[in-house]
Amino acid sequence: MNQPQKVYYFDNNATTRIAPEVVDAMIPFLRDLWGNPSSAYAFGAQVHGHVEKAREQVASLVHADPKEVIFTSCGTESNNSAIHSALVTTGKRHVVTTAVEHSANMNFGDYLQRRGFEVTYLPVESDGSLDLHLLEKSIRPDTAIVSVMHANNETGVVFPIEEVAALCRSKDTLCHTDAVQVPGKLKIDVKQLGVDFLSLSAHKLHAPKGVGMLYVKRRTKYTPYVIGGHQEKGRRGGTESVANIVAFGRAAELAMATLNDENTRVRALRDRLENFILTNIPNTVRNGAKEPRLPNTANIAFDFVEAEAVLLLLDQIGVCASSGSACTTGSLDPSHVLTAMGVKPMRARGSVRFSLGIYNTEDEVDYLIQHLPPIIQKLRDISPLNPAHEDNHAYDVAGARAKHEQEVAVAKAE
Ligand SMILES: *Cc1c(COP(=O)(O)O)cnc(C)c1O
Repeated sequence: MNQPQKVYYFDNNATTRIAPEVVDAMIPFLRDLWGNPSSAYAFGAQVHGHVEKAREQVASLVHADPKEVIFTSCGTESNNSAIHSALVTTGKRHVVTTAVEHSANMNFGDYLQRRGFEVTYLPVESDGSLDLHLLEKSIRPDTAIVSVMHANNETGVVFPIEEVAALCRSKDTLCHTDAVQVPGKLKIDVKQLGVDFLSLSAHKLHAPKGVGMLYVKRRTKYTPYVIGGHQEKGRRGGTESVANIVAFGRAAELAMATLNDENTRVRALRDRLENFILTNIPNTVRNGAKEPRLPNTANIAFDFVEAEAVLLLLDQIGVCASSGSACTTGSLDPSHVLTAMGVKPMRARGSVRFSLGIYNTEDEVDYLIQHLPPIIQKLRDISPLNPAHEDNHAYDVAGARAKHEQEVAVAKAE
C-alpha cells in the first residue's frame, strides 16, 4: 500500500478520533484503578465514584438527571433496548420507525417482524424530511413505541423530535430517539424534547468504541435487555466498562465545550466544501435538505461515477470519506436512506458522504478541494455511465453498469 502518512479524515459520522483529553482521563483506569466497581472493598468501591461522576457528565450533556442514564455497550444496544423494553412493558405488538434509520433499527425491526411483531417504516420526502401527518396516522392503539432518529447519519437531516414526542404523548405511546449523531453538533435537552428514551454512542463524540447510553425518563417503565447482575440498578447486566465510561463522561464535557466550534468553524468548512463541489464540479447535487441539517455533514451525488471508485481514488491520496450506504464493503447496493428519499439507484450509487469534525482544518479542506475535481473528471472520462460517451439513444445502462462494476472490482484487486 502506498498510503501516505497523513490521514485526511472526513468520515466523522462513522467514528471519531479519541480526544487526547479523553485518552488522558481513561488511562488511570486501565493502568491502576482496575477494580470492579461493584466490589465492597475500597480498591473496587473507589472506582464506583468515577462511574457515577461520568454518569453526571453524560446526564448533563442531554440535560437529564443522572438516575435517568443507563450505560450500555453501544448505540445499537441502546436502540434495541428501548424498543425491547417498550414491547415487553406495554405488551403491545406494533412499532413505528422510519425508513431512514440506522441499521441498528432497520435490522431490529426486521427481526421483530420475523417474530410476529408489526413494524411500520415511515417513508420520507425527497429532501429526507418526515411527514408528521403520516406519522400521526401510523400510531395505533396497539403501538408500543415510536422510534425516530434525531439526525440522519447519511444526510445529516434533522427530524423535529419535539413534535414527534408531542404526537406520541397525545396518543399515549412511548417515544424513543436515536440521537447518536447529535452531541457536540446540536444542543440536546431531553426535557425540551419530551422523549421517553434517547440513545447516544461514545465513539461518535471523540471517546472509545464499546460504550453507549440510554436515557430513560423518570417513571417510565423499563425492563432490561441484557439480563444478568445488578449493575446499573438492575437495568443492564454486565460489569461496567469503567475506563470507557470515564472516557464517555470526559467526552460529554468536551462536546458541550466544542458545540460552538462545530457550529461556526466546522460548519463553515463544510459549507465551503459543499459549495465548491456544487458550483465547480458539473452534474453534482446535494442529497437531503440544506436545513435543518447537522453542521458537519455533506452528502453529494456525483452523476455518472460510482461512489466506490471515488472513494478508492480518495483513499489512495489519504482521504477518508464514505458512500451513502452504511456497510459498503463489497456491496454496490444503493443506500437505503437515499432510496427511501426516492433518489434513483444510479444517482445513489454515485453519492459520497463527507462528515467533518472539530479536528479538521482549512488546509485539509484545501487539499480535498484541490484533488477532488481531477478524480471525478478522470472517472467520468472512463465511465460507461457517462451519456456523453454514447449515441444519444438506446444507451445500454445495464451493460455499462456491468462493465463498470468489473472495472471497479479490478481496481480494487490491484
Ligand atoms: C453509529 C450510529 C449508531 C450505532 O452506534 P454504535 O455505538 O456503533 O452501535 C446508531 N445510530 C446512528 C444514527 C449512528 O450514527
